[in-house]
Amino acid sequence: MLLKNLWNKSLKEECGVFGIYEHPEAAHLTYLGLYALQHRGQEGAGIVSSNGQKLFEHRGMGLVNDVFRESNLNLLQGNKSIGHVRYSTQGADPLKDIQPLVVHYPSGLLALAHNGNLTNAVALRRELEALGAIFQTTSDTEIILHLIAKSQKTTLPQKIADALSKVEGAYCLLFLTKDSLIAVRDSYGFRPLMIGELSGAAVVASESCAFDLIGATYGRDIQPGEMVVWKEGKVESSFPWVQHPPQQCVFEHIYFARPDSRIFGENVYEVRKALGRQLAFEHPIQADMVVPVPDSGVAAAIGFSEYSGIPFQMGIIRNHYVGRTFIEPEQAIRHFGVKIKLNPIRDVLKGKSVVMVDDSIVRGTTSQKIVQLLRQSGAREVHVRISAPPTIGPCFYGIDTPTQSELIASKKSTQDICQFIGADSLGYLSLEGLLQCVRKSNQYCTACFDGKYVLLPSDG
Ligand code: SF4
Repeated sequence: MLLKNLWNKSLKEECGVFGIYEHPEAAHLTYLGLYALQHRGQEGAGIVSSNGQKLFEHRGMGLVNDVFRESNLNLLQGNKSIGHVRYSTQGADPLKDIQPLVVHYPSGLLALAHNGNLTNAVALRRELEALGAIFQTTSDTEIILHLIAKSQKTTLPQKIADALSKVEGAYCLLFLTKDSLIAVRDSYGFRPLMIGELSGAAVVASESCAFDLIGATYGRDIQPGEMVVWKEGKVESSFPWVQHPPQQCVFEHIYFARPDSRIFGENVYEVRKALGRQLAFEHPIQADMVVPVPDSGVAAAIGFSEYSGIPFQMGIIRNHYVGRTFIEPEQAIRHFGVKIKLNPIRDVLKGKSVVMVDDSIVRGTTSQKIVQLLRQSGAREVHVRISAPPTIGPCFYGIDTPTQSELIASKKSTQDICQFIGADSLGYLSLEGLLQCVRKSNQYCTACFDGKYVLLPSDG
């Protein structure tokens, strides 16, 4: 028997963060917030709370529900807390990398949760190590803590501003001390971060779906380059860094964020439906039905169906109850990995011409398997429509992507990709079409589609 990782999607969000200030059930609400953000990281989770005197922490590998029990949540005392869900488990000891990280700094204990990726991490780490710093983790987040500890400034917000002036890349950060909560979004605003309110308590989260679950009200997005400090019952906002034109990740709308979330000022579901309508306009086709690859292709398929008038059908059903690994039989079953998650409905598909709508083609192998499953289930024609432009480059801003050479669109034409995945036709949304579907289209990063990176890793 072979144990295989089931979550072998090629693009993975790296993290989600949640924080709450001055609520008597801070840790329990953070647990629920992380539950809502589970799609942003499934490998590990952690919560740190404060009762005004000291910090309490619990973290572990696995899903939020695996990591937290009533017994360990009850030990997380206090009315302030921050939490984190994590995807990446690279490093010798992945448990050590699970956030929030907690360190002693000159004024006491400090906890930090980070969503994003620093582009000058290797260079900064080398510099700090040359000066004698000893790192406990392999995470780039720890670099920020070392820079804060070294800062000669007076207050913690000043030290954070000083530290982050040396850092480049994508970061949404939540800091917790015994008496304060601090939220920071980098000056490009790559990842979403927003503030809400629950019974007079402030809440902060990567996506608004976390507010909905706990009954909090969305307030506003934290602006690119903004630091918000909650301390002694007061809240203060500042913009301590050089401002840049925003570079919000457009892939959050296409795939990463939950469709019931509001990010970058817009509802994700509505944007995805608009992508589907635009896709139908750009790549019309005669067919019997529009079938999404669930779940992320559903909203775009509804939009495609609306615009084209071709009926929408859930011709593929996703199994939501599979774990993160599975044991593969020794006698290989064709497309076993895809089949365990996705099952086409033969009675719906038999003899039909199908438009299969998905959000991306990364390596091409998964799309190839799904097209083959549809054909084996009786589909007469399979026309693939992708609600994003071809992915031609990696992401350096907090999304785990394959290398450029593994991205099929970086080396093959659309026609060749169509042939590779075995479709009757293939159409990608244009970049111009994509940007027509979001408001403030000049505030988005599209680097993995057009190669226009505002920041490149400074250390290779
Ligand atoms: S490179 Fe792509 S995935 Fe990364 S931030 Fe830009 S749009 Fe998002």
